[in-house]
Amino acid sequence: LSYAAIGLDCPRTIGALKILRLYPEGEDPSVSLFRDYLRLKTVHPDPDYGETPLLYTEINNTFVTIVTWEGMNPALKSILLNSHTDVVPVFQEQWKYDAFSAFKDAEGNIYARGSQDMKCVTIQYIQAVRRLKVAGQKLMRTVHLMFVPDEEVGGHKGMETFVKHPEFQKLNIGFALDEGLANPGEAFTVFYGERNPWWITVHCPGSPGHGSRFVENTAAEKLRHVINSFLDFREKEKHRLNTSECFTLGDVTTVNMTMVKGGVAYNVIPAEMDVSFDLRIPPTVNLQEFESQIKQWCKEAGDDVTYQFAQKHMNQSVTSIDENDPWWKAFSAACRAMNITLEKEIFPAATDSRFIRAIGVPAIGFSPMNRTPILLHDHNEYLNEQVFLKGISMYERLIPALASVAAFPDEA
Ligand SMILES: [Zn+2]
Repeated sequence: LSYAAIGLDCPRTIGALKILRLYPEGEDPSVSLFRDYLRLKTVHPDPDYGETPLLYTEINNTFVTIVTWEGMNPALKSILLNSHTDVVPVFQEQWKYDAFSAFKDAEGNIYARGSQDMKCVTIQYIQAVRRLKVAGQKLMRTVHLMFVPDEEVGGHKGMETFVKHPEFQKLNIGFALDEGLANPGEAFTVFYGERNPWWITVHCPGSPGHGSRFVENTAAEKLRHVINSFLDFREKEKHRLNTSECFTLGDVTTVNMTMVKGGVAYNVIPAEMDVSFDLRIPPTVNLQEFESQIKQWCKEAGDDVTYQFAQKHMNQSVTSIDENDPWWKAFSAACRAMNITLEKEIFPAATDSRFIRAIGVPAIGFSPMNRTPILLHDHNEYLNEQVFLKGISMYERLIPALASVAAFPDEA
């Protein structure tokens, strides 16, 4: 394996697979490794990546690390195993155990921030590659393990920047695996696309005046109209989700009113009021038409109502899940061979996969956790050690399957 330092010379030339150690007696070493990693406080707003070389390579003041297992035919497009190293904050008083202690209860449930999102996957990749190497297996395509920061705060200093970096181009990636979500049932969920997040603020100006009168053309009347339009649409989408058997959250547009601003005193009619919404739009929606709808709502609300985007993602690329697609065929066939049922969905939130897909690289979101409640970003996030260990075995099959996808005509 080779270890790439992006942006800076690596402070230590140490094989990333050797740096995580600590094997308490009686525990599977992979589980110990996982718990060890969970104790690293890579938590926002000030993630501590410590002295760990695995996480310690600088690019634009953040850190991207790549571990490469060169294939027998390195000219072919490579496989990317991506995971992010950062985690979201905790409300410790809501947790049963210290969120960074990786406490394991009698059932083998390991409690920690990042146990599902997505430190489990990082260690599963590493351990699967380690086992494949120990077994003497050689892969045709090169495999890159990539550890990126900043995903939980939008990926702007992480993957969004890195996909434009020359070092990324050099990796010559043909297909990527990235994070998914747990599935409470027997099946495993895979994600082949994502909803586009739009953050919008609608500005409602109006005539100011004394609070004792019926002033015409007030900001509040316009604001009410705007709120009604957005929230009526929200009801419709909620209804669509709840009345269709085949819809999941990723198939509908969610609308949430998240901020309201305005007003100076009880008896003063304000000259302006603002309202902000978080929208998540599935790839099936015509975004131009959707924006026209928003424009219409603003127009109907009254004079001079305008809107502004804080975030407006327009990328609607989805990864093929057609059985004729060589990558998907390899992935799904390996799952079938393991008797695994897959549920194919659009990811309800945003992950780094959107930046990978946006540059034309197919990506599948997959975190191998079944029989597990979805607890990412939640209190008492946990993963059972048996589910975790099974995931390693799954990657042991999936990685060689993807790295064995036959050369494409343009790769010859
Ligand atoms: Zn994540």
